[in-house]
Amino acid sequence: MNQTTSKRNPKWHRDEIILALDLYFKLEPGQIHGRNPAVIELSEVINRLPIFDIRPDAEKFRNPNGVGLKLSNFLAIDPNYHGKGMESFSKLDQAVFYEFNHKREELSRIANTIRQTVSNPQLRLKLYEIQEEPEEELLEFREGRVLYKLHKYKERDSKLVLLKKTQHLKKYGSLDCESCDFNFQVKYGDLGKGYIECHHQVPLYQYEGIQQTRLDDLALVCSNCHRMLHRGMDTLSLEELRKLAFITP
Ligand SMILES: [Zn+2]
Ligand SMILES: [Zn+2]
Repeated sequence: MNQTTSKRNPKWHRDEIILALDLYFKLEPGQIHGRNPAVIELSEVINRLPIFDIRPDAEKFRNPNGVGLKLSNFLAIDPNYHGKGMESFSKLDQAVFYEFNHKREELSRIANTIRQTVSNPQLRLKLYEIQEEPEEELLEFREGRVLYKLHKYKERDSKLVLLKKTQHLKKYGSLDCESCDFNFQVKYGDLGKGYIECHHQVPLYQYEGIQQTRLDDLALVCSNCHRMLHRGMDTLSLEELRKLAFITP
């Protein structure tokens, strides 16, 4: 059997690149190698990401040397570096580099939130269990896939959802979509009674660390609006969605 072709690890994922780039910006070129403790630590963090459960070559998967090589890819991309880097970078490495080159603080916040998420073993397991729809798998999220899963996990917290609905019912008397005013009970009668979905409105990296979800962070929306909000996750607020759908306030 041909070992070399059957044991290829998957390409680097956006989340992994985000973490690597964040470290790259904190290191001097001479510190980029697999023996640097910061590179070894990053290798451990990346191995804990709930992204790839199939690792054809588990031993080599994102090991310190591999992580060091990925950081050297950024040397080759970085216009401020005039030495030689590793030219074998991907289009995605390059795209993520330029996306955050002048937004390093935001990059750090995203990277830190991903790190905190995977440092909690229970939370990490829960995120492994979050299934994504086929069409969601095609979407790219600025915050990456781990924080998208965390978003889904937070808005599916059944206790919290119940609290939110109860609070909303008390205040407004009905469960209308906060974006398009659709009401499941009005449309479907008893079948739709009490049905509405919850959407977490605040990008998770904007918090300092991982926080308990506040009821105000959640909005009640119908399934259509919820899908659309997720498709435009990085840019779309409830108000903007209303405008798109020509709904006047
Ligand atoms: Zn709606
Ligand atoms: Zn949502």
